[in-house]
Amino acid sequence: MQIDFVNVSKVKGFLDKEEALRLYETALEASKSAPCLEIGSYCGKSAIFLGSACRENKAILFSVDHHTGSEEQQPGQEYFDPDLLDPQTGKIDTLRLFRKTLFDFQLENSVIPVIGKSEIIGHAWKTPLGLLFIDGSHAYESVLNDYEIWSKHIIPGGYLAFHDIFPNPTEGGQAPYLVYQQAVASELYEVRPLFKSLGILRKK
Ligand code: SAH
Ligand code: MG
Repeated sequence: MQIDFVNVSKVKGFLDKEEALRLYETALEASKSAPCLEIGSYCGKSAIFLGSACRENKAILFSVDHHTGSEEQQPGQEYFDPDLLDPQTGKIDTLRLFRKTLFDFQLENSVIPVIGKSEIIGHAWKTPLGLLFIDGSHAYESVLNDYEIWSKHIIPGGYLAFHDIFPNPTEGGQAPYLVYQQAVASELYEVRPLFKSLGILRKK
């Protein structure tokens, strides 16, 4: 693996090191068969790991985000970061830092930014996927949309991964967990044990 962990720690984001490594291993397997896709690029932390794994297989990670931030990242909210405000528009803009991350980690030929709302892009999507990583909006309707619209593109043997799975409500919001449980109940997937807040399923 060619990932510079000192520099990774400088990239803004919401992924711990062990979760990142688990994603890397999963994408290394998944990207042998088909491209991978993540929903929720932010500043590129997860893309470093998924994208570096894809690069090893000469595969591609599509990274979907409208780059204007989730509900909780807006001014006045818990995860607001003033560095991300575009002074001209007064809105959050993570695209500039995302592109810097791709440049810094030599991922420009392995990670393709797809800029827009996941539900709009998802309705037009046709390419089969070896891995889908859902880490976008944490509003219930949005997580459900991401699951329902995108998961049908996962190939047999491909992976569906969710971030921010908290069975214990005191540890975090329940929307991703509720949707994760729906995926488990569908019986379309082999269920892997939860790894920290990562829920990884494998399509039968
Ligand atoms: N994976 C990132 C964190 C993603 S944070 C990391 O490793 O650090 C969630 C991201 O989802 C935000 O950047 C936000 O802009 C994006 N997002 C939220 N709702 C979205 C939607 N409906 N469509 C596309 N992107 C969305
Ligand atoms: Mg997350």
